[in-house]
Amino acid sequence: MLALRPNCECCNRDLAPDSADAMICSFECTFCRDCAEGVLQNTCPNCGGELVRRPVRPAEKRVNSPASTERVYKPLTGARLEKHAAYVSRYRGIDPAKR
Ligand SMILES: [Zn+2]
Ligand SMILES: [Zn+2]
Repeated sequence: MLALRPNCECCNRDLAPDSADAMICSFECTFCRDCAEGVLQNTCPNCGGELVRRPVRPAEKRVNSPASTERVYKPLTGARLEKHAAYVSRYRGIDPAKR
């Protein structure tokens, strides 16, 4: 089950569980759309995978299966920035299914 993390891991912006601007990778690293389509270039800085829109869990299902309140914030600086740049250069122009 998706945790539905409460914020963008890159810029720390709040992402409500019903936000249409929450993007995730297959490991559920979570980003806002601005970061995903901008600085991240649709490449997760942790795993190199694609970022797709997080599905919205219906409000009535969030009663018994609530969204996570644990914030994950890892700014894209230093070694993380270099790792992301390496992923981008390795995967540029390559379909996510072939990464
Ligand atoms: Zn962001
Ligand atoms: Zn990832």
